[in-house]
Amino acid sequence: MLSKGVLYGVFSDIHSNLEALSVVLDFFADLEVGGYICCGDLVGYGPDPDACLARIRALPNLSIVCGNHDLAVVGRMDADWFNPYARAAALWTRRQLSAEGRAYLESLTARLETPRFTLAHGTPRRPPEEYLLTTRQFLDNIDYVRVWPLFVGHSHMPVCFRRSPSGAVEQLFPEAGQEIAAARGPDGPGPTAFNPGSVGQARDHDPRACCGVYDSSRGTFRVARLEYDVPGVQAKIRRAGLPEYLALRLAYGQ
Ligand code: ZN
Repeated sequence: MLSKGVLYGVFSDIHSNLEALSVVLDFFADLEVGGYICCGDLVGYGPDPDACLARIRALPNLSIVCGNHDLAVVGRMDADWFNPYARAAALWTRRQLSAEGRAYLESLTARLETPRFTLAHGTPRRPPEEYLLTTRQFLDNIDYVRVWPLFVGHSHMPVCFRRSPSGAVEQLFPEAGQEIAAARGPDGPGPTAFNPGSVGQARDHDPRACCGVYDSSRGTFRVARLEYDVPGVQAKIRRAGLPEYLALRLAYGQ
């Protein structure tokens, strides 16, 4: 019998979208996951930073890293290189955030190794900044990881990379529900990266919330897409005075 404790809810790039986060966490609760893996960018863009942080902090057995937006909001990274919408949202979030929320973001690192897996927001080589988009980048980052699989976020695209024992590298774009196995290593998963897509700001032209489920006993990962109240979040973005573009893009998943 498989223990429930080996199923993980994997999620990233929440971006202060409470409606999307709630749907994702309900989905994980229905699966009775035993742990959570969060790849960062908890805040930025969306209208509910503190409420999202409260929900995430309360999760049991949580492995979490921060992203570039989290770092910009607490002033640990320069927001000047952000596009104008991201920068406006980062500055808005900085003003809104409670002292508690800020302290929580400040406590996070952008890279984390656990006995069962590694997390980085972008890549293990340059955790908050670099996007893991190509097989070349995946190969270049392999020496930076000791414990596989690697979970990343940042690109807002559900994607997997893996290297077979023969050295061939594959890039896979998982359909919702499709199960993908990690590469085999000598004693457990070998070089494999899983990106669960974005909870709160999908960019693959599917406006639904995106997340993943990792079964550590079998080394498999699958992506899920979930409907949430997009118009409700758009209304909150407008009420908050955040840029209109941040409301519009949610409807198109871009
Ligand atoms: Zn992000």
